[in-house]
Amino acid sequence: MRIMKMTCPACLAEAKIRKTNRKHPQLADMYCHCTNMECGLSFVMNVSFSHTISPSALTGQGRIKELIDALGENDRKKALALLLEAEEKR
Ligand SMILES: [Zn+2]
Repeated sequence: MRIMKMTCPACLAEAKIRKTNRKHPQLADMYCHCTNMECGLSFVMNVSFSHTISPSALTGQGRIKELIDALGENDRKKALALLLEAEEKR
């Protein structure tokens, strides 16, 4: 897994993330500090969600599986009977 690297906007050296202030699941402030001793800039970067590349396994099919897994044995049998009945009506 790649770790997000920040770049100092003043000298372009690598900057370390000191603190993350998550404002929302899709928005965070990253408090950064430049690693260049001669620069020493401290700054805040905004990191925000842009778009989906691969959908979450917890939506769509994944969510259905999660619900099925949460059912007890009797409810699972009832759900299967309902699904088979719905399939026959097609
Ligand atoms: Zn710098």
